[in-house]
Amino acid sequence: MRDIFDNSYARLPDRFYTKLPPVPVADPQVLRVNDALALELGLDPATLTAEVLTGNTLLPGSDPLSQVYAGHQFGGWVPRLGDGRAILLGEVTGDFGRRDIQLKGSGITPYSRNGDGRAWVGPVMREYIVSEAMHALGIPTTRALGAALTGEGVQRERRYPGAVLMRVASSHIRVGTFQYFAARGDTAGLRLLLDHAIARHYPDADGPMTFLAGVVAAQARLVAQWMSIGFIHGVMNTDNMAVSGETIDYGPCAFMDAYHPGTVFSSIDQQGRYAFQAQPNMAVWNLAQLATALLPLMDGDPNHAAEKATQVLEGFADHFSPEWMRLFRAKIGLTTEEDGDEALITGLLARMASSQADFTATFTALTGGDASDHITDEGAWDSWAPDWTARLEREPGYPKAVMRAANPVLIPRNHRIEQAIQAGIGGDYAPFHRLVDALVRPFDPRAEDLDLATPPKPEERVSRTFCG
Ligand code: AMP
Ligand code: MG
Ligand code: MG
Repeated sequence: MRDIFDNSYARLPDRFYTKLPPVPVADPQVLRVNDALALELGLDPATLTAEVLTGNTLLPGSDPLSQVYAGHQFGGWVPRLGDGRAILLGEVTGDFGRRDIQLKGSGITPYSRNGDGRAWVGPVMREYIVSEAMHALGIPTTRALGAALTGEGVQRERRYPGAVLMRVASSHIRVGTFQYFAARGDTAGLRLLLDHAIARHYPDADGPMTFLAGVVAAQARLVAQWMSIGFIHGVMNTDNMAVSGETIDYGPCAFMDAYHPGTVFSSIDQQGRYAFQAQPNMAVWNLAQLATALLPLMDGDPNHAAEKATQVLEGFADHFSPEWMRLFRAKIGLTTEEDGDEALITGLLARMASSQADFTATFTALTGGDASDHITDEGAWDSWAPDWTARLEREPGYPKAVMRAANPVLIPRNHRIEQAIQAGIGGDYAPFHRLVDALVRPFDPRAEDLDLATPPKPEERVSRTFCG
């Protein structure tokens, strides 16, 4: 079989990674293969056997390695993190560009610290479900190419079935990868990394400043998209922010049910650092770390470079705000711009918050013209709806098509993910498959999948999510 990989990262100097194969597992069983994605990448889905999905067998041309990086975790600096349970198998290239193929849960590496290098099937299912749902929602994201059970147990608060996820990313270069080289004073390494990242993601950039500007713009657009669908990443540490602008590292992430700007799900985010509404500011905080890491590569007077970089960071809002407005305008059926639109949108969100309205279901109802069943706070709907109706009358077209395309009916609801995980622990993966299949069509679900769109009953509500 011909080599399927072209490994540009493996051609970087060896201080960028440790080369090593995945640790073999006892009894691989396929959980799921993403045939459509395999075909998009020019891979024959039949090659994605259980042995390949777990890393027991390597595809031809693979040069497996674990990447080193650093990062700020919840604001605290960690000089060396790295792939503690992941292996980059290689990169595939084609019309689509270049994509990393990585295993997650593939065993101990030099960066595992105290971890076991493994993942249990719960987080693997969660990442599979959510990353594929994000893709269907049109949001830049890593993707799930397949998942397999290892036939081994993984010890967490109890023993769970182990699993490996095969994921695809346009790269796994993180803010923390730049921080790693900068913190060591390895300017030559930093420059190689920058050149590599520019070639891969920002071919029009001519240096660190324009690269930074590109990442700032991509992250601003990404976070605006998250906000528009009620997504909470949960662990926006600098090692979990990809310079490509893709959503990466699905841990304790969640979609909000009841809307509240301060919502936090992650069990480890006790201060609410990564609460829903904090995400844009946290992105800027991370990007400031990227700017700091890039400073040694910036030409001229360091003070001048720092000032210029600060201006670039301040540009985040210039990308975020218009994108946020565009997305939320569409959610209420607006394609034209008027001065009062922002007040109309924030007025709606305030009423949703005071009504504890389900974020997704409220916008679905609004598409139908009436969200009064959701915006139930005393007088809230009646004090908003007339202004909205009046505003819609000044729209040239029919707003429903705009709203339908902006308001997903089906999102990966926490309680459904949790039900799928619980069933999986018991050996029944049907709910997982059903969820993944349904979430391919978030905007126009099949009638038989509409039960998956329903908000949780009080006893089904999930308020905490966990890392895996
Ligand atoms: P995360 O919060 O998922 O981004 O993980 C932070 C760091 O911990 C990364 O370097 C991971 O590779 C590492 N890590 C997470 N879980 C494990 C595990 N089970 N074994 C080894 N390393 C892990
Ligand atoms: Mg991570
Ligand atoms: Mg993680």
